[in-house]
Amino acid sequence: MRDPRYDILFEPMRIGPHVAKNRFYQVPHCNGGGYRDPSAAAAMRGIKSEGGWGVIFTEQTEMHHTSEITPFIELRLWEDQDIPGLRRMSDAMKVHGALAGIQLAYSGINGPNFYTKEVPLAPSSLPIRTFTNDPVQARALDLTDIRNLRRWFVNAAKRSKIAGFDLICLYGAHGFGIFQHFLSRATNQRTDEYGGSLENRSRFAREVVADIREAVGDTTAITMRVSLDETIGDLGFSNAEVRDFVAMNADLPDLWDLAHGAWEDCSGPSRFKEEAAQELLVKGIRELSSKPVVGVGRFTSPDVMVRMIRSGTLDFIGCARPSIADPFLPRKVEEGRIEDIRECIGCNMCITGDMTMSISRCTQNPTFMEEWRKGWHPERMQEKGDSESVLVVGAGPAGLEAARALGLRGYQVALAEAGTELGGRVARECRLPGLSAWGRVRDYRQFQIGKMANVEVYFDSRLTADDILAFGFQNVAIATGSTWRRDGVARAHVVPLPMDPGMPVYTPDDLMDGKVPTGTVVLFDDDHYYMGGVLAELMARRGAKVTLVTPSAYVSDWTRNTLEQGAIHRRLAELGVEIVLNRAVTRVTADGVATACVYTGAKRDIAADAVVLVASRSQNDGLWRDLSARREEWADNGIRSIRVIGDAEAPGPIAWATYAGHRFARELDMPDIADALPFRREVTALAAE
Ligand code: ADP
Ligand code: SF4
Repeated sequence: MRDPRYDILFEPMRIGPHVAKNRFYQVPHCNGGGYRDPSAAAAMRGIKSEGGWGVIFTEQTEMHHTSEITPFIELRLWEDQDIPGLRRMSDAMKVHGALAGIQLAYSGINGPNFYTKEVPLAPSSLPIRTFTNDPVQARALDLTDIRNLRRWFVNAAKRSKIAGFDLICLYGAHGFGIFQHFLSRATNQRTDEYGGSLENRSRFAREVVADIREAVGDTTAITMRVSLDETIGDLGFSNAEVRDFVAMNADLPDLWDLAHGAWEDCSGPSRFKEEAAQELLVKGIRELSSKPVVGVGRFTSPDVMVRMIRSGTLDFIGCARPSIADPFLPRKVEEGRIEDIRECIGCNMCITGDMTMSISRCTQNPTFMEEWRKGWHPERMQEKGDSESVLVVGAGPAGLEAARALGLRGYQVALAEAGTELGGRVARECRLPGLSAWGRVRDYRQFQIGKMANVEVYFDSRLTADDILAFGFQNVAIATGSTWRRDGVARAHVVPLPMDPGMPVYTPDDLMDGKVPTGTVVLFDDDHYYMGGVLAELMARRGAKVTLVTPSAYVSDWTRNTLEQGAIHRRLAELGVEIVLNRAVTRVTADGVATACVYTGAKRDIAADAVVLVASRSQNDGLWRDLSARREEWADNGIRSIRVIGDAEAPGPIAWATYAGHRFARELDMPDIADALPFRREVTALAAE
């Protein structure tokens, strides 16, 4: 059972008219599903309730149609019609005794209103601030508008109450909510009673809290989410000013919810931010108010959580990503199962679901957002089907997750790995600069498999088709991974790049094998995710003079979706890496590379002693192809099915591999659904004509 040193995490605590059963507080987080997938989002929150969280919030909920952030998909509470969908969510949150919270967002200077076509309203007339520099400006709210906005907040609060929520969070953090826009001198340049002094800039927050308290405060707690530092220098809402604001308005909300800076500051990936990275920014604020404080910091260690509470830094442990990676984190602490916690690796893949307006995935938890769509539970698998045995070939993230999940279903599982360690690409990549937390993908699964009597691991076992046909396993999963291409084929070149054989050419696999070039190196990144930037960092740290060439307008372009592109560029610039954008390598020469501007074709040669090509990957599917060619021998050898999964089927991010492994395990021995859609989907009901 529970280790007494964690008892403090389970002490109840009052928030306004409610009492949270423990200190585990799931702060608002997006999921890419939002209003388009209300049942999927509700079921995801329901799983967190089962997992033991004391407080569970929605994602940001747009509370009035004059402010919305299309194309991003969050929740909406614009009219009574929106109440039933939100009620479904609050019901799911409360099943196991959590308090249900809704985050109300009026996006102000952050909402371009592409969908409603309303003119955006903000404290001052400035361009809309989004990821995409939209060509739209906001009109400054006049005093009548401010009165209207206060009333709209009250309307939203009343609807939130009808929708069953216990807590209302007023959003003013990450640069995203109107409360921050009023508080910051950068976005509030008013000269009336709502601008100028901090007292004036806090007026709007004070008025809205008072209005909502009067309307629903007897039954509904009010929390206020503010940024700990706007991180834009003196003009912004600095950490010192946040402290002044809290001191000046000490008992304003029922709880202070402290988040950091812009979203990329708050949700920093593990490559750039440690656990509890916001500790210094938050320390001491609790003493300024009698109200409880929640803060975040990618907390996955119960010892760190206890320290945050014992040191008087926080009252509640706020978690978004750790609650995604392991919705059962509180229950595992409560049941004394610390080693079973599936720790977030801080890769920010979950955030890409929101940024790409798709639906979120989690590298560690393949069931995230599939709780309703596929009926997948993060802790439980259905019983095994009518076959008995499975051979999984390859112990990368796909093979490891398949073995773990098949083991849970009760199959006899053999996991054969050619090498001498588990983890595949994860074991290699976690040795690269900043990626050590990614090893948790392996560690969690290694520990789980180690506990299962029905899963055996075989190392030094590079299997051939003959081996597999001879073994007699009924089912086989081929998870043999992928290899970085040496010929430069990716996007700029769909056929091999011309190369002078005299120039040493390296691939990411070479570098991960320890063959790291020195001297003057050109790295050509036509992959665009993290690998090119990480390898440039690795070489620069070892003293190489690195030039990173990419056809994109951004270094590690796709990491804009993981909120780390800015940090990557900054790090490379600080390490002295020369960054050459909008240029493709057209040829590897004896003295370096020939390049061309992607717009004009203008040529430029860059000298180098070595070239690193971060292009695409080839699937290691030779084994699968050999077995496919011998399909008529399967049945005679007792084989019912063979599938190729993960990078061996089609290379992708690690999250794709864990998903593929999990899916294989779920679907084994299940009836063939032929042409049917493999998940449940919500279709908007047609309005009456
Ligand atoms: P994924 O991301 O799909 O899980 P990885 O590349 O991470 O793929 O892992 C593939 C693993 O498969 C590696 O650990 C590799 O050593 C192993 N492997 C490759 N070929 C074989 C084989 N023929 N037999 C056993 N293991 C193999
Ligand atoms: Fe953590 Fe990555 Fe999962 Fe997000 S996707 S919760 S960052 S492991």
